[in-house]
Amino acid sequence: MTRSALVLFLVSVIFWPPNAGAGDGSYSLTPQKIDDGVYVLWGRQEPTTRENGGNIVNTGFIVGTNSVLVVDTGPTQQYADQMISAIRTITKLPVHTAVVTHHHPDHSFGIQHFKKNNAAIYMHRNLKTLFANEGPILLELLESLIGKTWVSGTKIGEPNHLIETEQTIDIGDRIVKILPLINGHTPGDLLVYDQKTQILFAGDLVFHERAASVPHANISVWLNHLDTIRELGWRKLVPGHGPMVTDQTPIEELKAYLTFLEKIATESIQRGDTLAEVLQTTIPTPFDKLATIQSEFQRSITSLFRKLESEAFGN
Ligand SMILES: [Zn+2]
Repeated sequence: MTRSALVLFLVSVIFWPPNAGAGDGSYSLTPQKIDDGVYVLWGRQEPTTRENGGNIVNTGFIVGTNSVLVVDTGPTQQYADQMISAIRTITKLPVHTAVVTHHHPDHSFGIQHFKKNNAAIYMHRNLKTLFANEGPILLELLESLIGKTWVSGTKIGEPNHLIETEQTIDIGDRIVKILPLINGHTPGDLLVYDQKTQILFAGDLVFHERAASVPHANISVWLNHLDTIRELGWRKLVPGHGPMVTDQTPIEELKAYLTFLEKIATESIQRGDTLAEVLQTTIPTPFDKLATIQSEFQRSITSLFRKLESEAFGN
């Protein structure tokens, strides 16, 4: 056996199957009370892996006097099932409503399980076709990232309340508002605002201490939405990813990062750089400190570059 063949053999013995022992299907979800009747299940600031089963997203729930409203359904049917069990440790009230802030897998693949448990599922109307077309592909991609054990039983579930204007839901002595904002992070994002505590669940319109994901985004519109979000009068904001936001600093940091991404992509197209060249860009401080920056920067620049390239050259 040559030396390189031996190395390959050892690598395959030590690392195969990949992450053996991980991915046992337990998400260990523990709701944290962030205010009166408002709970968050904090996701990890990591890429999606076989160890975390896609638990990289913040989900949450709000408890009224007659029902519970859930914000985002998590990545898999098992997550949704374990989320319902976690809710049951806090309250026995029925989960009547699940608001899915947008269609990305970490937020939406638990939909079917909440539907099976009789929850009304809200999503923005603009995502209906996109979700139907891309959902099955995204589910395959998720399975390739986290493995069969975590995704077992997960199906793409259709939302049954497609909305495009502001809605108010009374969950019993408690008014929750659903606010749509279009063409920012995706063609249709929903914000959830609890009037009683002035807590805003912002979905992926706000990433905190983590590199934003932009494949479905329009950055200039997103920047405007961030100005809108600043003015909504919240006391605490739960981002789609990352720790709680209590002042405007994280919003400004996100604006700076999105502006940086757009600038890098636009200038490279103007210079006539190739994608390979622009991917060599050194990520400056403070953006190099963001969680998942290396992989997310590559992904973001690739999608922005391709979009700008096809706009410039019409291909
Ligand atoms: Zn997203």
